[in-house]
Amino acid sequence: MTDTPGFPLPLPMVDLQTQYLRLKPEIDAAIGGVLSSSRYIGGPVVEDFAKGLAAYLDTAHVIPCGNGTDALQIALMALDLQPGDEVITTPFTFVATAEVIALLKLKPVFVDVDPDTFTLQPEQVEAAITERTKCIIPVHLFGQAAEMQALLDISRKHDIPIVEDNAQAIGAEFLFRDGHRQKLGTLGAIGCTSFFPSKNLGAYGDGGALFTQDDALAEKLRMLVNHGMKRRYYHDLIGVNSRLDAVQAAILGAKLPHLDAFGESRRKAADYYDAGLADLEQVQTPVRAPYSTHVFHQYTLRIAEGRDALQAHLAKAGISSAIYYPVPLHLQDAYRAFGYGEGDFPITEQLAREVLSLPMHTELKPEIQDYIIAHIKSFFA
Ligand SMILES: *Cc1c(COP(=O)(O)O)cnc(C)c1O
Repeated sequence: MTDTPGFPLPLPMVDLQTQYLRLKPEIDAAIGGVLSSSRYIGGPVVEDFAKGLAAYLDTAHVIPCGNGTDALQIALMALDLQPGDEVITTPFTFVATAEVIALLKLKPVFVDVDPDTFTLQPEQVEAAITERTKCIIPVHLFGQAAEMQALLDISRKHDIPIVEDNAQAIGAEFLFRDGHRQKLGTLGAIGCTSFFPSKNLGAYGDGGALFTQDDALAEKLRMLVNHGMKRRYYHDLIGVNSRLDAVQAAILGAKLPHLDAFGESRRKAADYYDAGLADLEQVQTPVRAPYSTHVFHQYTLRIAEGRDALQAHLAKAGISSAIYYPVPLHLQDAYRAFGYGEGDFPITEQLAREVLSLPMHTELKPEIQDYIIAHIKSFFA
């Protein structure tokens, strides 16, 4: 451990600055192009990005929108659900996933997650299905998939559509048992993602998108994001205003060719953490699901004892860390009305007490990670 590291402290969770400087010529040119064209809303830059992303994901339709939360809301609006209909999802996620359910007067039905992947347990999902269950929203948390093969079987068996929350795992692939691979977000009826700056494919502002293979759903989603109209000023549906602007689309278009390399840097950094922390028995490093590739949106440890003290110890050394998520959604004040309580989802509640995410981004260097690993070790020494 050195007292004067050769990099600036504090170490951020995400280093958007260094990534920008590395890609600056491409990104500045893309933004400059929009400024010269003065087409800020819609237009060819937004369309080209959507087409490029559809090709990358190998899906029929990408419908850009304003942010990931809107994408989830619009996906549910497209499914024509009735007030009181039930939507099964995870309590161990960012609030947006459940928020849009409640906002549309639907009922979020939570089920517990797998202790290794932190994603929906398919058996729990099936057990929670009732007459009123109209949608399942798995979250591909921290960069790898929920168990989609089992979830898709359940979806087909009960004729309940899946909306994938893929805000955290764009670029990751599901590995089916028969050997075929498919990009996350393209497996369910509709996939949703976010281009929030810190996401794996991040804009420099807000952005999001919906994916679908279904032509009729795609047409409906395109109308919903744009005030329910197909023909200007003729409104067939009650929609919303949710747009990806051209400056953000240009930035995303410049970054998209680098997305696989971003995933590769994150995986390399994860391997390096894994190796450095392997002999610490107090620390559980991330478990990689056999059915998914992992793009490490987060690198999240489980610390059974002393998580908060470790976080304070790291902060003293100028190392950021974060707790995603400190309060499960079923225990949040705003979700009291749905009738859940302490003890309903023991794995989720345990994870909320134990998880700690370390700095994870595309610009980590071994010397930075050595410093972080050394300070984790010194805490347990
Ligand atoms: C970021 C995120 C969202 C919301 O995306 P925004 O673009 O911030 O609205 C939804 N779900 C999950 C799991 C997320 O991580």
